[in-house]
Amino acid sequence: MKLTLRCSVLIDGVADAAKGPCSVHIEGDRILSIDPLPGGPAGGESGEQHSRGDQNGTSSEGGAAVIDLEGYTLLPGLIDCHVHLTSEASPERPPAPPANSSEREYRLLLNVAQNMRKSLQGGVTTVRDLGAPNAVILLLRDLERAGRVTGPRVIASGAGITITGGHGWATGHECDSAVEVRRAARTQLKLGADVLKIMSSGGVFTALSRSSNCQFSVEELHEAVAEAEKMGKRVATHSHSKDAIKSSILAGIHSIEHGIFLDDECISLMLERGTYLVPTLAPHTYIWGNPEIHRIPQVFLDKATVIREPNFQGATKAVKAGVRIAAGTDSGIPFMEHGRVASEVETLHDIGMKPMEALKTATRYASELLQVDQKVGTIEPGKVADIIAVKGDPLADLTALRYPALVIHDGKVAGVEPGLHAPTMPETLILTRRAGWPSWKWSPSGD
Ligand SMILES: [Zn+2]
Repeated sequence: MKLTLRCSVLIDGVADAAKGPCSVHIEGDRILSIDPLPGGPAGGESGEQHSRGDQNGTSSEGGAAVIDLEGYTLLPGLIDCHVHLTSEASPERPPAPPANSSEREYRLLLNVAQNMRKSLQGGVTTVRDLGAPNAVILLLRDLERAGRVTGPRVIASGAGITITGGHGWATGHECDSAVEVRRAARTQLKLGADVLKIMSSGGVFTALSRSSNCQFSVEELHEAVAEAEKMGKRVATHSHSKDAIKSSILAGIHSIEHGIFLDDECISLMLERGTYLVPTLAPHTYIWGNPEIHRIPQVFLDKATVIREPNFQGATKAVKAGVRIAAGTDSGIPFMEHGRVASEVETLHDIGMKPMEALKTATRYASELLQVDQKVGTIEPGKVADIIAVKGDPLADLTALRYPALVIHDGKVAGVEPGLHAPTMPETLILTRRAGWPSWKWSPSGD
């Protein structure tokens, strides 16, 4: 299949400024070439044969279907570096516990399939899932790659690595020594995990775990790093306490997830080692100010209260210092629905990032962290065509990102808003304007 996208503005994820009108030519799953359009999207180059009107109302040109995107901005498909596709974003547990583990897995499979569609609807064409039962997430990842289910490209850790009774123990490997961490890491790599997830501290949504602790020693954390790197892969760590963050950086872990209590010492270590921070600020904007907040059990709310201020303070400092930042939402936790990485981009802008930099945290920088930058994350000839179109100028108003009008994934039209003429397939999603965007914003208390 050949597609030509004629847009008014192109943000390619490489340049620091947006580009003017152009045509992006796609063949198969790849971007073939990009040509400037002197006359704007409706103008067209001289000598081109432009014919209107097949059954979709699309026009064609040189064998390619043309999608006219006058007034729209094209940008790389969005990447969310921290999601949990198995979770429904509901504050309650399911009414009846599953009868057995296979029933539980069936339910989770359905959740993943549904959340993958939600991701695409939000313009998210790649996600990194950091913690889910192996059988469920690795199966759906592979089915998506084989074109058998609709969804984003999934980079998956599968089961996480924690301590006995530690954060995420219910779905993770419980390890209490360096040897056990090594064995768990090797097990995950054997099963085909793309990345390893290790819990270096406690967290919010495991009842008995505490943010303030450090679950593993530097030596234990390094076992996971050493095993992953032998296979050319990376390690992400759930990390709240300062000690956990520092130990993780010293162990060579590639991305600190949340990084709640990071301080100046952690920041300079991260700068020195090139460690990424995925601060996951968006969940706060969905929880605080939500009229349904009382549905979250108090034990979790108390812990969420403790981490709110330091999370924003730490991320603000890290942004200012120039730490590598990638966008992640922790989608799946209470109220944080899938397909809303736009909220993280907006929040990163709120704490001091320039709009273009904030956009890159969910495109180019994210692709680099996820080791998929040879394929996606930018719009360049030779790359896989993962591209979205939004109305207006997201650099002037980042909320434009909330409402993708067109989603191209692997060179195919994965989603299109009603009224935009594009060649569709039976599985193409109809993109409707999603409601429920948070209005809560953090403002610094104290200094
Ligand atoms: Zn998470």
